[in-house]
Amino acid sequence: MARADILLTPGPTPLPPQVREALARPIIHHRTSQYRTLFKRALQGMQQVMETSQPIACLTSSGTGAMEAAVVNLLSPGDEAVVLLGGKFAERWQGLCKAYGITAITVPVAYGDAVEPGAVGKALAAHPKAKAVFATLCETSTGVVHDIQAIAAITRKSPAVLVVDAISGLVADPCPADAWGVDVVVTGSQKGLMLPPGLAFISLSQRALDLVSQSKTPRFYTDLRLYQKALTDDDTPFTSAVSLVVALDEALKIVLERGLPQTIERCALMAKATRTGAEALGLTLFAKRPSNGVTAINAPAGIDGKQIPKLMYDRSKVMVAGGQGEMAGKLFRFAHMGYISPEDVLAGFAALEDALGALGYKFTPGSGIKAAQAVFAQPAVAGAVR
Ligand SMILES: *Cc1c(COP(=O)(O)O)cnc(C)c1O
Repeated sequence: MARADILLTPGPTPLPPQVREALARPIIHHRTSQYRTLFKRALQGMQQVMETSQPIACLTSSGTGAMEAAVVNLLSPGDEAVVLLGGKFAERWQGLCKAYGITAITVPVAYGDAVEPGAVGKALAAHPKAKAVFATLCETSTGVVHDIQAIAAITRKSPAVLVVDAISGLVADPCPADAWGVDVVVTGSQKGLMLPPGLAFISLSQRALDLVSQSKTPRFYTDLRLYQKALTDDDTPFTSAVSLVVALDEALKIVLERGLPQTIERCALMAKATRTGAEALGLTLFAKRPSNGVTAINAPAGIDGKQIPKLMYDRSKVMVAGGQGEMAGKLFRFAHMGYISPEDVLAGFAALEDALGALGYKFTPGSGIKAAQAVFAQPAVAGAVR
């Protein structure tokens, strides 16, 4: 059998052996004390990685399901909400608002830039009736991380709740929900959490829970009141994705044994090695405020950027992400979150150099790998990324 693909994509990400083993275990029934004990422990682990003491609902869906749950449970048709743009995922908040008849007051910013926190304050001052601010921690399409701490401090001065899409950001970029005053955090399983796609999570502050009880938007599967009620029995309103939750319990052990700050630091160091390697190849970076989880690299002038991920996969079985929407062909993205390792990053550079060579780009062969390797070889880094 051919060796497994190396996924350097910002979801799905590679699975640790402990997670794969958990996924292969015999199924247990979800209405048993055995499952409830495990589910409770897993949600407590999620509270630790989301850095919140608030309740967390666990949905069987991809991350977008939790985004939709946030919109339908917090807002009613005709309500106003401030939506911070800057990439394809931020635009999903806008699309969700549109679908449910919610007026989105957008705060635009060029792709590759981060929304200025001051612009959020201006939007809230101009629209005092806005009930929510929708933001994105790591904008996966551009590799930008937002200053959620400053955005939260500004939102706190208004009656609006702050909702953060941390689907790719969680466990890679810091976002301590309670300490920063983030009302709602949504995330998904297939990125920093090292699981297959299929689970989504949403944490809710008391202010957010108050909105949930007021929302008039029709909802059924995503009605968070049902999840909230089931949580009192460590249960879910509908059948739990049992095997994924069993695997989550294992994945959280890995994160919490290393420590959340240490896990975030490891991502930051892999991001540093990736950026250093790209620059050594004469390439430039797209994000003005780069995240720890994913690095967006501009395709060099004169080279069709779509060919870079294609050749990396066809020739080396290393998968990186291309550009989305208007960014298609202009950039490609290397993830360094979750179970992705320094060895994977180096394999990524080997594949990248091979693809760039095949496309006729001029560079010193080995320079990207060498520069990334030099970052990992620094004694302080070597200990932290192990
Ligand atoms: C991956 C991602 C999503 C979408 O999640 P799905 O799991 O594909 O529904 C949303 N927002 C961000 C920032 C993401 O990275």
